[in-house]
Amino acid sequence: MPNTQKILPPTFAQLGLAKELMDALKDAGYEHPTPIQSEAIPIALTGRDIIGLAQTGTGKTASFTLPILDRLMHGPRRTRALVLTPTRELCLQVEESVRKYSKHAPLDVIPVFGGVSYEPQEKALRSGVDIVVATPGRLIDQMDRRNVDFSYLEILVLDEADRMLDMGFAPQIQKVIEQIPRYRQTMLFSATMPPEVEALGRKYLRRPVVVQVGRRSQAASTVTHAVYPVRKERKTELLVDLLTKSHHDSVLVFTRTKHGADKIESELQRRGIPAAAMHADKSQPQRIRALEDFRSNKIRVLVATDIAQRGLDIDGISHVINYDVPQAPEDYVHRIGRTGRAATTGDAYTFMSPDEIGMVRTIEREINQEIPRISVPGFDFGTVAATAVAAHPHDASLTAPIA
Ligand code: AMP
Repeated sequence: MPNTQKILPPTFAQLGLAKELMDALKDAGYEHPTPIQSEAIPIALTGRDIIGLAQTGTGKTASFTLPILDRLMHGPRRTRALVLTPTRELCLQVEESVRKYSKHAPLDVIPVFGGVSYEPQEKALRSGVDIVVATPGRLIDQMDRRNVDFSYLEILVLDEADRMLDMGFAPQIQKVIEQIPRYRQTMLFSATMPPEVEALGRKYLRRPVVVQVGRRSQAASTVTHAVYPVRKERKTELLVDLLTKSHHDSVLVFTRTKHGADKIESELQRRGIPAAAMHADKSQPQRIRALEDFRSNKIRVLVATDIAQRGLDIDGISHVINYDVPQAPEDYVHRIGRTGRAATTGDAYTFMSPDEIGMVRTIEREINQEIPRISVPGFDFGTVAATAVAAHPHDASLTAPIA
């Protein structure tokens, strides 16, 4: 049955991960889960099979790595998880993620791919390493040499399944799966869902939950969205709070009016946060100056109106903050398109006062994505808004079990 009561957990703490993993996430500097993580992690932790439709850059690796580690922290030290990847590069990336997130957990991982000598892999495999990340060809070689004991395997991940099939790995995948336990959790991740991948899912997964992020959205898939419910008169305080409490490299703040932009500029400057405003009333030299200062990191915060955004071409913006909720959904997509470029992860925060709840919902419908709420004590105007979005009508399309 579609889960219609779900509201995305806005923090890692709410996903139900072990403390050792939370500590590693903190060390990594991650503040909030990405949409695929919010969706997939709680489901994966229950042991259900998952089909995750997500591209690289969405945080998909952590969305299967974290649940694997959570589960493997308890129980025997045997090879209990296998991740199949199409390429050596991806294999190494997944291995790196596993190492990063298992920093405080007693778990080990080995990458297995071709073109390098067999022996070191063989040794680790024979020792019963907890997690194997492998390309299909070399893994089969190692299995044929009887170096692998998968009799304790509990979790199988097929990462970038569409690419694996494109590369002709279907027979190898089948061969591996034939030699591992039937009773296991299987997670399939793919950027696209052509019929071949669907068939793979039907063949090897049991009643999977399909988790999909941002497919119909124009928004950059690397952006982590969040909405902060806040009373109108407290917005500037919240902005200062966010800018001072955590690290923000280069922040683009959007306001509805020129007057609003100027007010924020002077308020931030008064608090010792270097900032500049950009809007139609600023002269050309003033604008150029502001942009140069922003690019050279002399100022960290640029406060702009929508008019100004069209001419802005700046790379490397770490955060976009919608001080006012954009009036049209397209403006939201445009604005956050300013961050998350070039596969870096950017954050897009939206401050939502009570009279802006409806506009946020319109945006969510448009981007086909619920935006997690972050409640900051002392700023949040109450729990009313948070429950109002819980019954979002598009919920079912985001996380729907398939038969
Ligand atoms: P992936 O889509 O798994 O290739 O991840 C893309 C990049 O995002 C990687 O460099 C991760 O380290 C990073 N990342 C993953 N999850 C988060 C998060 N919740 N917050 C910030 N960065 C993240």
